[in-house]
Amino acid sequence: MDPKPVGLCPRRTVRGRPRATSDRHDPCARCGRNIPRLAATWPEGRLCFTCYFNAVHTHGTCPACLQDRLLPGPPNADGHPTCVACAEIPYDFHCQRCNVEAAHHRGRLCARCALRDGLHDLLGGEPNQPALAGLVDALCVDDRPESIIVWKRSAKVQELLRTLGDGTIPVTHEGLDTVPGKPTEHLRAILQHHGLLPQRDQYLPRFEQWIDAKLAGLPDDVGQPVRHFATWHHLRRIRAKAAAGASTRGPVHSAKQEITETVKFLLWLHETYQRTAATCTQQDVDEWIASGPTTRSAIRTFFVVATKTRLNTTVTVQHRSATTSPSLSQDQRLAWIHELLTGTSESLPYRVAGMLLLLYAQPLVRVVALPTSIISNSENGMTIALGTHPTDVPEPFASTIWQHLASRPNLRTGAGSNNPWLFPSTLAGRHLHPGTAMDRLRSLGVNLLGARNRAIGELVLQCPPSLVAEALGYSPQVAFLHATKAAEPWARYAGRRISSP
Ligand SMILES: [Zn+2]
Ligand SMILES: [Zn+2]
Ligand SMILES: [Zn+2]
Repeated sequence: MDPKPVGLCPRRTVRGRPRATSDRHDPCARCGRNIPRLAATWPEGRLCFTCYFNAVHTHGTCPACLQDRLLPGPPNADGHPTCVACAEIPYDFHCQRCNVEAAHHRGRLCARCALRDGLHDLLGGEPNQPALAGLVDALCVDDRPESIIVWKRSAKVQELLRTLGDGTIPVTHEGLDTVPGKPTEHLRAILQHHGLLPQRDQYLPRFEQWIDAKLAGLPDDVGQPVRHFATWHHLRRIRAKAAAGASTRGPVHSAKQEITETVKFLLWLHETYQRTAATCTQQDVDEWIASGPTTRSAIRTFFVVATKTRLNTTVTVQHRSATTSPSLSQDQRLAWIHELLTGTSESLPYRVAGMLLLLYAQPLVRVVALPTSIISNSENGMTIALGTHPTDVPEPFASTIWQHLASRPNLRTGAGSNNPWLFPSTLAGRHLHPGTAMDRLRSLGVNLLGARNRAIGELVLQCPPSLVAEALGYSPQVAFLHATKAAEPWARYAGRRISSP
């Protein structure tokens, strides 16, 4: 059997371009819908674009001739699609360049060949530079050339490829840095993946941008010493690590925490006592640390550096003793909940996980394994089913959880938005590993693991979520109701539906 049934001029039989036939609306031969615009006329009749698209993307073994090829023909009696020859479709789908039988783009070229031509057009011809030639190959070996064709239609992508092609932007990390944006990062990732650019640490450049954003708009008394600290202590150290090929994720994370805490402290000092890093006293530091969560001790490094650089030689900050501290006070719990609610020191999922731990005394091992189905929305607001019955989630915690639900990370790698977990993992279909959540919260200074969960349970009993909300300045009208229930055992509290006032 001739694998290339060419006979009729394809222009007469296959309308490559949609054509409006306003006078007649024939139904599609496959789906039966009335179609003002048709994609092709084949022996079976006229085809709509959807059916045509499906037809020219179906490959397999033809049930009539047993050849492995494109199967655009209508299904046989068994419902199995057939090949061009057996269906007597008068069109040859072989690519005129590479001879692959597939849907045509740009005249009679397959998607891959059309993509290569399109990339060459944008790059000003077939590139000589190995990195760009490699980039074209890399984009064309992608298993979905059609999605790259669509991506390439974006004006930003076209501009980027043009400027890379004409040499305006060199194909280097530094060159790509001059055109920030998603298309650039996509290209950088491809270039790195295929060894066309060396791997570069992604945390360091983001950290540099983060410092600028963090310090923007601060009073000079606060901004200047922190910039010095960030630049001469942290950046120098982290750049050296990156240059040595070490991971900078952890160091960047703790540097951000130390900078954030130092900014908070210096702002407080500036506003409360009108003093600066240079005129700060030991009492100031002691007061600040004693009156807040353990993360406040993260200002220690700033004062170690301040002593070395003779900025302030009178203040010392002890290492935080969170790991040996036997229990958490109610004030610390409230301060932590406040921090998780409003802070920027950790990303939203970890803040929500920490909040569930501190608000409802749920151990992290259990928190990370919670399905989204335990959250419901009733007319009285959000409820969460931690026991057998749902319990109220007061504002502002409900909003934070809604916000998290709407933006759960890692869904792209998982089962899409059907992922059942409140905290999806980067591994498809799994929930976050408890160890990951513990590490992240522990590095923030929340040392609230299994052993101390009982202690949190007691704190929850004295001050359940609605009272926490009130203590933090929310919903005072519900305080009375919950105050009377505060003495009930936690199990009963968690196990009953509390009606709103
Ligand atoms: Zn159709
Ligand atoms: Zn066949
Ligand atoms: Zn081809």
